[in-house]
Amino acid sequence: MINVAIDGPAGAGKSTVAKAAAKELGFIYVDTGALYRTIALSAVRNGVIDDNEKIIAMLDGIKVELGYEDGVQKVFLNGEDVSSLIRTPEISMGASNVSAIPKVREFLLELQRDIARKNNVIMDGRDIATVVLPNADVKIFLFASPECRAQRRYKELIEKGESVMYEDVLAEVNQRDYQDSHREIAPLKPSEDSVMCDTSELNLEESIQAVINIIKENTK
Ligand code: C5P
Repeated sequence: MINVAIDGPAGAGKSTVAKAAAKELGFIYVDTGALYRTIALSAVRNGVIDDNEKIIAMLDGIKVELGYEDGVQKVFLNGEDVSSLIRTPEISMGASNVSAIPKVREFLLELQRDIARKNNVIMDGRDIATVVLPNADVKIFLFASPECRAQRRYKELIEKGESVMYEDVLAEVNQRDYQDSHREIAPLKPSEDSVMCDTSELNLEESIQAVINIIKENTK
């Protein structure tokens, strides 16, 4: 199996780029952020998002699964398709919080490794190259300036009809970057053997092509 790890900060274009590259190469795209978001959704629903002990206790009673429909990833919480419900700013921040809990990361680890064992995957996240798939065939760290990432996310949210301010989106990007890169467990950082890919000056097509080229170059 060929395993490609793509890590990087929120809004670098990871999911869009990884999804398109996976389609082009015939690989399965695995969005691991969706798993942390699902834990956050469950914690919000249970009113325990601010209580780590209760979040840990909650894990025993929940089942998180990934499925694929026409190549599109779906995430299920106790059998319910929550793929759309997890795409809100509240859940983004909640995911960042729950992802700092070691037991949560442990809970999701085997699920991620199992998919990679059975399929050619492009897996996107924060710690794929460093923790989840340290033996991945290709490791890419995709990044862009915070302003650039905030601008992209802002556009995305506006297009979805949400009323947000650019300044708030930038503040959220900065806060999540800080949280994700300063946590004790699996902090966001490139592994030594990652290929660095800066998309600040690239449009979507160029970013996709850059990633496909890196993958082809490294799986010859
Ligand atoms: O990628 P996405 O924005 O959906 O991720 C949501 C949050 O989940 C991130 O801010 C990060 O804290 C966490 N995450 C993580 N490890 C991953 C994927 C996501 O800690 N592999």
